[in-house]
Amino acid sequence: MPELLGFQDRVAVLASMHQKETVIAPILELELGLKIVVPPDLDTDRFGTFTREKNRPGSQLETARLKAKQALSLTGETLAIASEGAFGPHPQIPWLSCDREIILLLDQRQEIEIVGQTLSTETNFASQTITSYAEAQAFAAKAGFPAHGLIIMSDRDTKNPSAIFKGIRTEAALYEAVMQALAQSTSSRIHIETDMRAMHNPTRMQAIAAATEDLVRNIRQVCPQCGCPGFAIVEALTGLVCAHCHSPTRLTRSVRYECQKCHFSEEVLFPNGLTTADPAQCLYCNP
Ligand SMILES: [Zn+2]
Ligand SMILES: [Zn+2]
Repeated sequence: MPELLGFQDRVAVLASMHQKETVIAPILELELGLKIVVPPDLDTDRFGTFTREKNRPGSQLETARLKAKQALSLTGETLAIASEGAFGPHPQIPWLSCDREIILLLDQRQEIEIVGQTLSTETNFASQTITSYAEAQAFAAKAGFPAHGLIIMSDRDTKNPSAIFKGIRTEAALYEAVMQALAQSTSSRIHIETDMRAMHNPTRMQAIAAATEDLVRNIRQVCPQCGCPGFAIVEALTGLVCAHCHSPTRLTRSVRYECQKCHFSEEVLFPNGLTTADPAQCLYCNP
């Protein structure tokens, strides 16, 4: 019953320049009954870009919050959505690249903020130093080009916009960029990387969709006391006991939900479905 969540028939401004609305809008419009609009004069690139012309301030969540607030002050609306991705080594499996996508809903009318996220190892995120067009073609083949865009730079630390070729989606454009970058390079070594901007990266679009689905799930969790949406986990408590010796381990035993409005709090035991820990995870059984 979307009308009970307080978003029915409201306008939500999407703080995004990179066509993310193509995946975000259908999900949120269907599930929450709101209407997504993208403000035409929003410049989210001033909060940092993937392509080094500008570094990102603050954390992913802080950046999303800044974008959402900017969109609200620009439009005078009260409801905003912002999405933010980050790419790098997987936190537990460092040889795998991953894409962490977060999406934030900021509702000034209900005075709440709800976050959805996903951590996906389905990403083409990669970069390499190359010296020839043949090497660029080999990289492109692995990166899912031309469905996925590429970026060529005369050197990887350049901040000069004329030495950065973005959004490359054709063989001809790739060839031209490699030749120009090689001509600009003093070392004959140039940099190639995947273009992670959403409109040039269908794999990332899927991760953004997954984060949006997670946002919807989190919105639908309403506070049992006051009915406010976004009754979310605020804390994980360790101490799941070892199956063999019953000592507490560092694994999660329970999670705590808390309402942003009335601060009603609820502890849920065994959120991962496990009531005891594998002795291999126990400091006494497996020191
Ligand atoms: Zn509440
Ligand atoms: Zn043990």
